[in-house]
Amino acid sequence: MTRLLAVFLVFLATHATAHEGMWIPSTLSKLVMNDMQNAGLKLSADEIYAINQSSLKDAIVLFGGGCTASVISDQGLILTNHHCGYSQIQSHASLENDYLKNGFWAENFDAELTNPGLSATFVVRIEDVTEEMQKTAAAAGTENAEEALRKKALELEREAVDGTGYKAEIKPFFYGNAFYMIVTETYRDVRLVGAPPSSIGKFGGDTDNWVWPRHTGDFSLFRIYASPDNQPADYSEDNVPLSPKRHLKVNTDGVEEGDFTMIFGFPGRTFQYITSPAVEYILETENPARIAMREASLGVIDRAMEASDKTRIQYASKQSRISNAYKKWIGQNMGLKEFDVIEKKKKTEEAFLKAAMSQKGMEGYSQIVGELASLYAENEKYQNARNYLIEFYYYGPEILRFAAGFRDLVENYDTLAASGKFPEEVDKLFNLADGYFKDYNSEVDRDILAAQLPLFHQNCPDVLTSETLNSLIKNDNYGAASDAFYDKTVFADREALEKALKSKEKKMIKTLKADPAYCVATELLDAYGENVAPAYRSFSNEEEGLMSVYMKGLMELLPEKVNSPDANSTLRLSYGKMEGVKPRDGIAYTPYTTLSGIMAKYIPGDKEFDVPAKLMELHEKADYGPYGKDGELRVCFLGSHHTTGGNSGSPTINARGELVGLNFDRTYESTMSDIMFSEEICRNIMVDVNYILFITDKFAGAGHLVEEMDTVSNPVKKRPQPVHELKAK
Ligand code: ASP
Repeated sequence: MTRLLAVFLVFLATHATAHEGMWIPSTLSKLVMNDMQNAGLKLSADEIYAINQSSLKDAIVLFGGGCTASVISDQGLILTNHHCGYSQIQSHASLENDYLKNGFWAENFDAELTNPGLSATFVVRIEDVTEEMQKTAAAAGTENAEEALRKKALELEREAVDGTGYKAEIKPFFYGNAFYMIVTETYRDVRLVGAPPSSIGKFGGDTDNWVWPRHTGDFSLFRIYASPDNQPADYSEDNVPLSPKRHLKVNTDGVEEGDFTMIFGFPGRTFQYITSPAVEYILETENPARIAMREASLGVIDRAMEASDKTRIQYASKQSRISNAYKKWIGQNMGLKEFDVIEKKKKTEEAFLKAAMSQKGMEGYSQIVGELASLYAENEKYQNARNYLIEFYYYGPEILRFAAGFRDLVENYDTLAASGKFPEEVDKLFNLADGYFKDYNSEVDRDILAAQLPLFHQNCPDVLTSETLNSLIKNDNYGAASDAFYDKTVFADREALEKALKSKEKKMIKTLKADPAYCVATELLDAYGENVAPAYRSFSNEEEGLMSVYMKGLMELLPEKVNSPDANSTLRLSYGKMEGVKPRDGIAYTPYTTLSGIMAKYIPGDKEFDVPAKLMELHEKADYGPYGKDGELRVCFLGSHHTTGGNSGSPTINARGELVGLNFDRTYESTMSDIMFSEEICRNIMVDVNYILFITDKFAGAGHLVEEMDTVSNPVKKRPQPVHELKAK
């Protein structure tokens, strides 16, 4: 380890605060173990993270690309959020088998549903490779450092996994002031086991998202399958449930206010160390633009979903993808303003400057914040254009992405025709089209275009335009432009596309090339590739370089301002306790909610607040089985853990290493925590494990799944083990 980092880590060990921080599990003993144990943890560092014996980390998986799950049985059963499994649940749903509305519970292994493309990744080990990487960079010199680091990383990664089926990736932390290699193992056959109806798993919908008090049973169950010799394998009927290295015990006593708890998972991205101009940009420019674009499309989608069950199913997952961040950004802006984050950042920057100027040999740092400010000002245009491309092309009308998928076919026509492969490629694309049209409604898409077009056209910098799109807009009549676009395209309708693809090859190519969807998509991508991407790339490289220096300066000059590294989708542990909060004057959030609160929110027939009859019945009879406590059934609880997106599905673990809850959200006031975490204000939201067991067992009659889990009760507070009177449905 470099001297700098070592000095910094020693400092951190004595100054770590209880709740802020997403700690790298392999560094716990050096940094925060004492503090964790003082706060109530009963485990040793080795019981949480070890490489020569099984530890808690072996029960934590990266679920798909962006969520977390935990292994909760010795047969590979995993627990994640309903919203993490949502696209899989939706993909199996139809009007006949409406798993979104009614839930899904597999009676046995054979009934579990396969999910092509879904994976579960375990972390095998985490290695600190800072020293080797920094030596490499120093030897190469500034000019060649990037390339040298890339090569060194490849070499170390290759050596680390040679002869194994593992994957290794070296990632920078603290903007390249530290490097860790993460070795992982990925299982590729993950099947759907159980999901409550949306009226439980998504109870409260968008209205309650990011909000407390919360009553969402945001959980779903999957199972990892492996080859008969317990190795990762593609889906096969011969695969068997994974026999995991470790599974979490499920503690049915739950937790009480003040109890030590931790969250183990894969937080996605945070921006704790960005400077005031960067926060200003997010607050004043980026978030408002993205919020407005999403508001436009959500207005259309929400209306359409309410009007038709078919559209509700088709757009459920897409709607969630758009609305989740939309509401988060609104909350984030509110929090950044109320918490005066720009002022706080400016104060740190002043202190930084003062320290740099007053300490010998540190003057070099004095320019850095100013340089960052100029860099942001010079590149605002490119950042804006990129944001509009993301919102319009990737989150806007779907037809653009679909049409762009035909680009290779059109551009490589001559080669494909000469090799005789052209018809085969056409068939491949047409087969893909089936999946696309299954969840596509051209009327909805047309209205999305009409709604987003004025914002895009009037606000997107002119480095990112499409001539075809501009030519359709006459007298600012965006509705007419959208109609003209959809009336002419073959990509909005399966038959029209089929007809075009069945025409003579040359004619087909001509049709596709002239199609407005194809033209707009390719023109936008080209404009981005030519006018924006190179500038944006050099901007972010420069930003990364300057931030790396700023970060190093912070570690040397103001180490008390440095906590854990920003989240980067690697395994982290956050710790805190179960506790409520007074997020602002006059408001107090109690630490947990109960089933009675669901009944208080109940609105018959409402898309967000309807309650299943069976749940009402169980509530009326207070029939909570072994899952109730003091005559109530707890649903969700709050904790002071530092979490972000990607921590969705992370287990909440008690002082003994047992599962007591399932993380799924943060309060509205906490959405700013990706940029600035406040121990006084920020709380994450978790489902109480008893509610998960109650829904699975008493509500859904899938008690065989609860039986499969390893449920325990604290010896001090002995409670009856769950008894199940259930049969499979
Ligand atoms: N609900 C969040 C998400 O969707 C989790 C979080 O950000 O706290 O990712």
